[in-house]
Amino acid sequence: MAPAGSRMQEMKRTKIIDIFSPELIGKEVSVMGWVRTRRGNKHVQFVALNDGSTIKNIQIVFDLEKFSDDALRNITTGSSLHVTGRLVESMGKGQSVEVQADSFEVFGTADPEKYPLQKKGHTLEFLREIAHLRPRTNTFGAVLRVRSALAFAIHKFFNERGFFYLNTPLITASDCEGAGAMFQVTTLDLNNLPKTEDGKVDFSADFFGKSTALTVSGQLEGELGATALGAIYTFGPTFRAENSNTPRHLSEFWMIEPEMAFYDITDNMDLAEDFIKYCVNYALDNCMDDLEFLAQMYDPELINRLRHVVEEKFVRLTYTEGVRILEESGHKFEFPVYWGADLQSEHERFLVEEHFKRPVILTDYPKEIKAFYMKQNPDGKTVRAMDVLFPKIGEIIGGSEREADYDKLYTRIEELGIPMKDMWWYLDTRRFGSVPHSGFGLGFERLVLFVTGMTNIRDVIPFPRTPNNAEF
Ligand code: ATP
Ligand code: MN
Repeated sequence: MAPAGSRMQEMKRTKIIDIFSPELIGKEVSVMGWVRTRRGNKHVQFVALNDGSTIKNIQIVFDLEKFSDDALRNITTGSSLHVTGRLVESMGKGQSVEVQADSFEVFGTADPEKYPLQKKGHTLEFLREIAHLRPRTNTFGAVLRVRSALAFAIHKFFNERGFFYLNTPLITASDCEGAGAMFQVTTLDLNNLPKTEDGKVDFSADFFGKSTALTVSGQLEGELGATALGAIYTFGPTFRAENSNTPRHLSEFWMIEPEMAFYDITDNMDLAEDFIKYCVNYALDNCMDDLEFLAQMYDPELINRLRHVVEEKFVRLTYTEGVRILEESGHKFEFPVYWGADLQSEHERFLVEEHFKRPVILTDYPKEIKAFYMKQNPDGKTVRAMDVLFPKIGEIIGGSEREADYDKLYTRIEELGIPMKDMWWYLDTRRFGSVPHSGFGLGFERLVLFVTGMTNIRDVIPFPRTPNNAEF
C-alpha cells in the first residue's frame, strides 16, 4: 500500500518476458511497464502491463479491499507503473499467470484526454503521423523486435562464415555508383554560394574541398575490403534521393552488402539463397510470438509463406528466359515487357507468385540496364547480374559477379562517360592483383517487410524518411 516501500526498492525487477516461467509461481515479483488496458468492477481491477520485452502482457490484479479507487486513479492507459506482488496461476482465460498487487508506484501519468493511443485499433496511416509513439503499440513492438532479431541474425550469419564487418563511408565524393539520386552534403552558405569564373558553384571552397554527397551504396569501397580481407560485409545506412513514393522505397534505408574475393556468380547465388533462408529461419525460431501476432492481425498466410521460402529451392533462370515467360503469359501488365526493358515489380511478382510460386534468382541482364562494374558475358550483350525476387516484394537483392578485367572495366567506364578522376582508386583493384569476385546488396527493410508481412516499408523502420517526411 505504501507507494514506494523500501522492500520494493530492494527487489530485483523481472522482465515480463521472463515472468511466465513456472518456478516463479507463488513468489513475490517486481515488474515495471506501461499500462495497456484497465478494466474491472467494484471489487477488483485488472491492468494489462507491457514492458516491451515481449508481445505478451502480464495481468496485474488490484484488490479494492487493499487499494482505494482514488489510490488507483492515475493507473490509466499509457501510464507507467512499478508493481510488486505475488505471482499466481490465473483463473481467468487468456493468461496463465497474474500478479496480485501488494504495492505499486506510478512513474508517470498519461492524461486519458490527451494520450493519442488511448483507444485500440488505430490505422497504420494514423500511426505514421505519431511515429514518436507508435513503438508502444503491439504492432510496432512486434515489428521492431523482429527487426532487431534479423539484424542480429545477419551479423551471426556472416560471423559464422568468417566474413569481416567493414564500415564504409556515409559521406562520399564519387557519384558514379549510379544506384540513385544523391543527397548533397555541404557546409557552404546556400544564400551566398561561392562561384567559379564560369558561374558554377565553387566546391573547392566547400568543407571537403570538393562536392560530396551521402552514399547510395557501400559496394565500391566494399570491393576494396574484399580484395584485401577476402570476404567482408557492410551493414549500414544508405540514402537515395529518388522521388519514388512507393511502398518499397525509403530515402534512408539500411543495406547489407557482402563482397567476396574468389566467388563467381554461382557462389554468389548460393550465398544469397543461404543468407535469406538463414535470416527467415532465425525469425521463425526466435520470434514466433511476434510473428503469430502479426499473422493474426494482418496476414494469415504469413507463417506458411516464411516456411515455404525456407524449404523451397529458389528458381534460377536468365533474364532472357524470364522475359520470354512474361511475354508468353498473355497477362496484361501496366508496363510493357520486352527484351531490354527494366523489369517492374509487377513483372517480378508475376514470375514469383503466379508462374513459379517460389523465389526466383534472375541472371544475365542486358548490360544497358545494369551498373558499369558487372562482369560482361561473352555474348557482348548481357552481364553477370543476379537479382533475387520475392513474393509480395519483388526485388529483395541485387548483385553480380564484378568485372575483374582492367581493360574491359576501363572501356565500359569510358563508354558511359563516368569521370575517370572519380574512378582511379576503384580501378586500382584491377591493376594490382585483380581477382574474380562477387557481391550483392540486400535492402534490410525489404527483408523486414517480407518477414513481418507488413505491406508498407514505412512501417518496418522506426523513423521513416520519405519525400516530404522527416518529422521524427
Ligand atoms: P529498385 O529497382 O527496387 O529500386 P534497385 O535496383 O535500385 O532497386 P539496388 O541498387 O540493386 O536496388 O540496391 C540493392 C537493394 O537495396 C535492392 O535489392 C533493395 O532491396 C534495396 N533498395 C534499393 N533502393 C531502396 C530504397 N529506396 N528503399 C529501400 N530499399 C531499397
Ligand atoms: Mn532503385
